[in-house]
Amino acid sequence: MSNEKYQKSADLLARAKNVLAGGVSSEFRKYNHPHALFYSHGSGSRIYDVDGNEYRDFTLSQGPLILGHSHPEVLKAVHDYSAKGQLFAGQHMMELELAEKLQELIPSAEMMRFCLDGSEAVQTAFRVARSKTGKSKFLRFEGHYHGWLDNVCYGISTPSPEALGPRNAPSPNAWSQGLPPDSINEFHLLPWNDLELVKAKLEESHHEIAAIITEPIMCNNGCIVPNEGYLKGLRALCDEYNVALIFDEVITGFRIGLGGAQTYFGITPDMSIFAKAIGSGYPISAIVGKKEWMEEISSARVIHAGTMNTANPTVAAAMATVSVLERENPYAKMFDLGDQLRNGLRDLAKKTGHNMIVSGIGPIIHTGFSDGDGLNEFRDVLKLDKAKLGQFISGLHDDGVRVIGRGLWYLSAVHTEEDILHALKSVEKVLAKMNEK
Ligand code: PLP
Repeated sequence: MSNEKYQKSADLLARAKNVLAGGVSSEFRKYNHPHALFYSHGSGSRIYDVDGNEYRDFTLSQGPLILGHSHPEVLKAVHDYSAKGQLFAGQHMMELELAEKLQELIPSAEMMRFCLDGSEAVQTAFRVARSKTGKSKFLRFEGHYHGWLDNVCYGISTPSPEALGPRNAPSPNAWSQGLPPDSINEFHLLPWNDLELVKAKLEESHHEIAAIITEPIMCNNGCIVPNEGYLKGLRALCDEYNVALIFDEVITGFRIGLGGAQTYFGITPDMSIFAKAIGSGYPISAIVGKKEWMEEISSARVIHAGTMNTANPTVAAAMATVSVLERENPYAKMFDLGDQLRNGLRDLAKKTGHNMIVSGIGPIIHTGFSDGDGLNEFRDVLKLDKAKLGQFISGLHDDGVRVIGRGLWYLSAVHTEEDILHALKSVEKVLAKMNEK
């Protein structure tokens, strides 16, 4: 499927399909409108495709670009530090400075190790939890995404809402073929935001549960904030049963604030994962944790390694990102613009007669369509009208507003009120057009 507006991308995609599996390098890139696109450049809040279309970018490339595209300080830092070498396979000064900075900013970051992406940092945390507790499984929640590796490649999609099974014993539907059969036995799965379910599960199975992993805000499905007392309750249960509490802050890190969601909510996990925004688009992630947990790695009881870890450009990008965010402290502005966008979306939905549910917090916004109430967990997200969301997102895209296909919008530090007003104008047009169909 293609149209003239995207013809060059369509031609390149056809060519790419001869050499890149499915024409892309990450599964998610297929889910663009009207198909995977080729981009030529990005600047600030805007990105341009090879057909010359300009988009206000509310995807931030799946989140990393907290300072927008091509931020000059990030690019200069990468350039300057790379001029000294690209990879030493040894320690270097800026890596130490970055670690000290994160230690200062993030409550759970008493010690850390850097890696390349969120997926592998998550697995490192599981290894630490297993080693320290002597237990083998982890508990995770429906609709939370923790990367694409084997043991977390379940519980994020379902062939049908019924296939989820009962709330107190969900069926972990696999997202991929080819997973090792035993990977399904590595975890327990529950719906999120229901402390009673976690309590019951731990009472019954705490002897085999080494860790609970949660996105502190469920950003991957619906951008749902935790119910009052939920994270605090998880903290208390983990303490009671000798279970590691792991916050997956891959999305919330540097986005909700420099100290992540753990600072925002005042709950300190045992370990947390930071990726995406900390590197402004360069491959760097961190597993950070309290000393008593990270001691598993310090002592080499747990092995963590990686040839490419802390390559110069990635560390320079992260350092530049922190320093811009610290100096400019854009969070109040990002939260205000987020409110402005959420309120504007709600007003326009009302005005045009659409049943839109707008959720989120600060610079993370989610839009879905449903006659139901708000969203509390993954099962609510599944009830949203996918066809209507598809129309909405495609309409916005054709009008030059790029939003993540599942209805997620991110704001960067460089988005302005003008970007919000521009997007809302487009939203009004698209919602009105949807009424004509
Ligand atoms: N955890 C969360 C919450 C994520 O959103 C993602 C990616 O979207 C990951 C982990 C995996 O990170 P990466 O894609 O860097 O491997």
